[in-house]
Amino acid sequence: MALMQSKSKILIAGGGIAGLATALTLHSITVLEQANSLRLTGACLTIWDNGWRALDAMGVGDTLRREHTQLQRIDTLSTTSGLTKCIDLQHHEMRLVQRKKLLVALAQALPSNTIRFGLKISAIHQRQDRSSIVTLEDGTQISPKVIIGCDGVNSTVAKWLGFGPPNLAGRSVFQGLGNFPQGHHFQPKTLEIWGNGITAAFGPCNETDVFWYLSRKSLSSDAEISYNSTILQEKARHLAEDLGNKEMVEVIKRSTPNSLSLTSMKYRYLWPFIAGKAQKGNVTVVGDAMHPMTPELGQGGALALEDSVTLGKCLAEVDLEKPAEIEAALKKYVEHRKGRAFEIGVQSSVSGILQSGSWWLPKLIRDKVVFNRLSPKMLHHTGYDCGPLQILS
Ligand SMILES: Cc1cc2nc3c(=O)[nH]c(=O)nc-3n(C[C@H](O)[C@H](O)[C@H](O)COP(=O)(O)OP(=O)(O)OC[C@H]3O[C@@H](n4cnc5c(N)ncnc54)[C@H](O)[C@@H]3O)c2cc1C
Repeated sequence: MALMQSKSKILIAGGGIAGLATALTLHSITVLEQANSLRLTGACLTIWDNGWRALDAMGVGDTLRREHTQLQRIDTLSTTSGLTKCIDLQHHEMRLVQRKKLLVALAQALPSNTIRFGLKISAIHQRQDRSSIVTLEDGTQISPKVIIGCDGVNSTVAKWLGFGPPNLAGRSVFQGLGNFPQGHHFQPKTLEIWGNGITAAFGPCNETDVFWYLSRKSLSSDAEISYNSTILQEKARHLAEDLGNKEMVEVIKRSTPNSLSLTSMKYRYLWPFIAGKAQKGNVTVVGDAMHPMTPELGQGGALALEDSVTLGKCLAEVDLEKPAEIEAALKKYVEHRKGRAFEIGVQSSVSGILQSGSWWLPKLIRDKVVFNRLSPKMLHHTGYDCGPLQILS
């Protein structure tokens, strides 16, 4: 087996949002992505104030602002009561950001040749001096100064660090982007619909594209249909028809095939993270590799961006020839992130149970208690500011 000295001092496993964002906050980086190109499929992410602050710290916020409409309010309709509640977003910045535009903006801001495609990390070994070696699927071994796992929910790096596999939440999400080439008529707001066992929402990303999602209990047939965009579209349309929303039906009908997806939601208990497993020697994790969570709060991607900025600050002044300095910086990073990831992870899970509305008790709490208290105060978590990319003391 060939042991390559990595030309870059920092090796990132995974070229998704976390990998590209982390690469933007650091120097002397190589990103290894298992796919042969950026994974530009999928629809949108809701990016709130905290995510925009992180994108601004990386210098890509304004590029993305130009391409996405700022939304003014969230209307929530309960199908049980027929009532609608409105949350005014005048003190918030919220946009539905197309996943592919986010990835392209991050990738274009990186020096050329930072991302190496078609390379999959298959194992990590720690040497006696606590430095680690990465083994790729083709047998190549690389020995960088720092290894950062941004390899998503089924992370090889997280597994090596001692995290358990993610859990299935029992719910699945249909998503897509309806395209209106001549422009759509939707106002800059989202409509959330809380139905019986189904939650749905839609709203404009820009002048021609409208994002929608529907979540419901997972079914055994989901894996089979998830690769067939025609069936996905048809199933989603039926669910929207059941909810009685004609506008949403129209948006779903106009979905572009490669924007359609059906994802089964996964999360991980964060206790091992609290116990300090997110760092070992010169290895750590960022994004879903560290804290996969259910998407009801719309914060998983933004948390990955916050992680990236924080890690960039922790490593900013570290002498990468000094393993003890690296280890201390990674420990500091984990220390800074664990409270935030825990808080958002718990809130997402609770939101998920309530929003699913499929058992009588959560449904009762959702419709009788949460609905009446919907207010901008519930967006408190979006106030987090990871700050500019300056050294973290
Ligand atoms: C249905 C749904 C809706 C969501 N909505 C929102 C939202 O509205 N707002 C929000 O902020 N977040 C949202 N999220 C969460 C968000 O999508 C994730 O948190 C975010 O994509 C995580 O990015 P990541 O880079 O950590 O992981 P990923 O996007 O999974 O990227 C991991 C990358 O690593 C690569 N990889 C994996 N293994 C290896 C390996 N061994 N070697 C090399 N490369 C590897 C993969 O190919 C992939 O490109 C949602 C998630 C879901 C499922």
